[in-house]
Amino acid sequence: MRILLVEDDPDLTRQLKLALADAGYAVDHAPDGEEAQFLGETEPYDAVILDLGLPKVDGVSVLERWRRGSVATPVLILTARGAWSDKVAGFDAGADDYLAKPFHTEELLARLRALLRRSAGHAAPSLSCGALRLDPRAARASVNGEPLRLTSLEYRLLHYMMMHQGRVIGRTELVEHLYDQDFDRDSNTIEVFIGRLRKKLGAERIETVRGLGYRLAPLPGEENA
Ligand code: CA
Repeated sequence: MRILLVEDDPDLTRQLKLALADAGYAVDHAPDGEEAQFLGETEPYDAVILDLGLPKVDGVSVLERWRRGSVATPVLILTARGAWSDKVAGFDAGADDYLAKPFHTEELLARLRALLRRSAGHAAPSLSCGALRLDPRAARASVNGEPLRLTSLEYRLLHYMMMHQGRVIGRTELVEHLYDQDFDRDSNTIEVFIGRLRKKLGAERIETVRGLGYRLAPLPGEENA
């Protein structure tokens, strides 16, 4: 899953980038409203964390422009403006959640998890696909209760595929949701990571749909919990 962090405070940016990376997300950063608007319109993020007091264009205007332009990405506003009237303005501009500074990182991460699962149509806090389970709270996955040892990129790939299980996902879509914009994508092809995941999960869990992409689904006979 790939997140856009819009924040102009360098210390908070550093802190949040670390926390988000630890939690298994690819993170792009925009330090002002102009860049935020551009990235939000051109990159398919899974969610945005949006500060309101920003250089160049303020956060509420950015959000209004995105929504007018049919950018449907879930947006969590993270701001020092904590008055009820600011919250109403934020939600009415198209925000999906609102957290006032100062905040606890754990609460931000929990709200982000809730936002991501709701936008992908899931209600349960952990994801299942047959005997395969993934718990975004711990950034861990298991098969039949046996923990899987995954690298951060393997985990990110599995997380995205479990969020969208049963659907054929193209390579381009996977690339767009796995890597941040500065990542050297050429040397890290999706095929390689799919191959590694198959070794760890069992090859038959990820189906290759020729010319279209990959599909993660329960094995025949497995109940999807
Ligand atoms: Ca600010």
